[in-house]
Amino acid sequence: MACERGSFDWPEELTADGFHEILLHKKGAMCGEPDLLFQVCEIIYWMMQVRDSRLAEKDDRANLRSWWKKDFLPRHVSLPAVARASMAAKKLRICPNRFWNLALTAERAQDDLPALIEIAEMTKHPEQLAHAHHDECSAEFCQFTDSNSTLKEQLHKCGDRSCHRVVFPLKELDRAVNEDLPTAWAIKKTQLYSDCRRGAVIATVGSITIVMILITMIADRPEQRETYETTTSLLYLVMTMLYHWHYGLAIGLGIFLAIRVMDSMQPRRSKVVMASSIPRNYIAISHVWSDGTGVGLRVSGEVNSCLFSYFAKIALQLQCNGFWWDTVCIPTERETRRIAMSNMHKNYEKAKYTVIHDRYLLGVDWTDDGTPALAVVLSPWFTRGWTALELSMSKRVKVIFRDPEDHSKQVLKDLQDDVFAEPTHYSRLGHSIASGLIQRVQGEQPSLSDLLTVLRTRTTSWQRDRMAIAGLLSRVENYDYSDSQAETTRKIIKSFEEVPKKFLAHGHSTLSDTGGFSWCPSSLFHSEAAMAEQRNHSNVVRVDKDGAASALWPYRLLSAQDPKRLRPHSFNMAVEMRVKQALQNWDRCILLHQDERSFEPGILVMPVGIGIPGKEHFVSPFCWQVVECEYIGCVFDDRMSRGKFGKIPIRLGAKVTTGPSSMTTAKDVIMDFYRMMNWEWED
Ligand SMILES: [Zn+2]
Ligand SMILES: [Zn+2]
Repeated sequence: MACERGSFDWPEELTADGFHEILLHKKGAMCGEPDLLFQVCEIIYWMMQVRDSRLAEKDDRANLRSWWKKDFLPRHVSLPAVARASMAAKKLRICPNRFWNLALTAERAQDDLPALIEIAEMTKHPEQLAHAHHDECSAEFCQFTDSNSTLKEQLHKCGDRSCHRVVFPLKELDRAVNEDLPTAWAIKKTQLYSDCRRGAVIATVGSITIVMILITMIADRPEQRETYETTTSLLYLVMTMLYHWHYGLAIGLGIFLAIRVMDSMQPRRSKVVMASSIPRNYIAISHVWSDGTGVGLRVSGEVNSCLFSYFAKIALQLQCNGFWWDTVCIPTERETRRIAMSNMHKNYEKAKYTVIHDRYLLGVDWTDDGTPALAVVLSPWFTRGWTALELSMSKRVKVIFRDPEDHSKQVLKDLQDDVFAEPTHYSRLGHSIASGLIQRVQGEQPSLSDLLTVLRTRTTSWQRDRMAIAGLLSRVENYDYSDSQAETTRKIIKSFEEVPKKFLAHGHSTLSDTGGFSWCPSSLFHSEAAMAEQRNHSNVVRVDKDGAASALWPYRLLSAQDPKRLRPHSFNMAVEMRVKQALQNWDRCILLHQDERSFEPGILVMPVGIGIPGKEHFVSPFCWQVVECEYIGCVFDDRMSRGKFGKIPIRLGAKVTTGPSSMTTAKDVIMDFYRMMNWEWED
């Protein structure tokens, strides 16, 4: 019916495949009112999602919806809706940076935004989703990204901010660190006193009052007075003073006030000695330091007792007898700290629950209409780097929201069971999109493109931490926090075993000039192009343990005109020089293409010989040999989309003992290879 009103020429029986066909080959059929068209497409997408979720077979799932990617809908259909969503977000005072970051990680990119915003528009209290003080943010930049969250006053959960401090003996964590155990603290129920200092004050005032009432009662009795008069003069003096009890009261009050003043000037330390024995079950707290739940301006190991008992109570509520909270669970001594940081993720992996605490989420009423899922992806918690790792490692996650009935209370909800959408139950599209965004960070080792995309939308207080998070997210073996950026990049790439061809087209300086990883950008984050999803298996290169990368590549030989025609793709003068220098000997270079019809930069390499890689790195079962090449750099080639190219197996960055003499041209090497393979050479 909607199709008819949209006045387009669609088949009567519309199937998913039929729709796919229309979008692929008959985009012209999609004329009519864009709004309505977009809504129809959304409904189809939603129906496919419901249908997919009902299929038991996982493979079938991938087949049905995997072709619906970003930019799949014609622009004229989706753009008006996306523009309207962007306006609506502004009206709701949602930070534009956070809003557009969602498009970066969403499956259908910007086309997912309208459904997400619809959730916010239809919720009961949209104002709860607003980001206060983000009015100056832009789509590219959020002002809160740069603020150093480590310099923040620690949060109080008590009303008058007068609780005492709890001190954790961090030294006791050393044993756990050295034995590779979680550095969580056990909770004993007796430690859960709240507002200890206020209690002490009330006790002092109470006891002073009682003593004074007693004394005045004694001193007031006339016969007692007689007795005192006959005893020593000192006692007499005291008793006279007490007889005038109001003086006594004044003195008492004076003493109390003095104690009170001293108290506030020098807060008492309360040493809590806890057994560092590993708790049976513990919760791991995932939070944002900018909320004040980190060490903040306190000495590490010290926390406000109200904050401590808040988390301890949550642990007990979840039947756990311990907690892991980075504020008090990371040792300060240099060596143990390094080990603890390298194993940071294990504390979340071994926790029974991970509890998400974010003050933004504490201001969102719990409902089951999908708003909580949207709130999670819009929360500050979702913008930080470490929390991505924490989510990725966690087994079961609980989120704290506000109780809609009583705003002074909070509710603990399960991420999987309560917050996520259940497509089988016909959840709304925006709800399942928001759930998908969170799920993208969960689970096993992410793909390289997922890793780069997720980290691109996340921030850290220290640059070094980004690399650490990338390393731990990729489940790199023997990761070490003291590793250099280059070392971590190497370990990450090795852990993936294969990388998209695009990863090599970076235009940055490489990890080394020759040999292993001489094709790899010096920082993992330098290859933004690799963020695009690579489903096509032929578009990856396999990396061996020494950092040599092999794959079958389309290639072409260079001609005398090429040094002028090819434009270096480089972010660095040294990289550009390397390309230009190599092009002076153009006949010794060949150009590799990512695929036949690509506008991406090509890769300039220099063939140096023919080699035989190890069995597990054969490029194809029919082809044992590879052409060994040296990686030079990247160039834009305007001839790329034209012409036909041969394909040869290429290995980059292997150790080659016998290099060609300076007289050998690239053509000679390749012709040698053809001869060896018994392939026919066409000029
Ligand atoms: Zn912002
Ligand atoms: Zn407090």
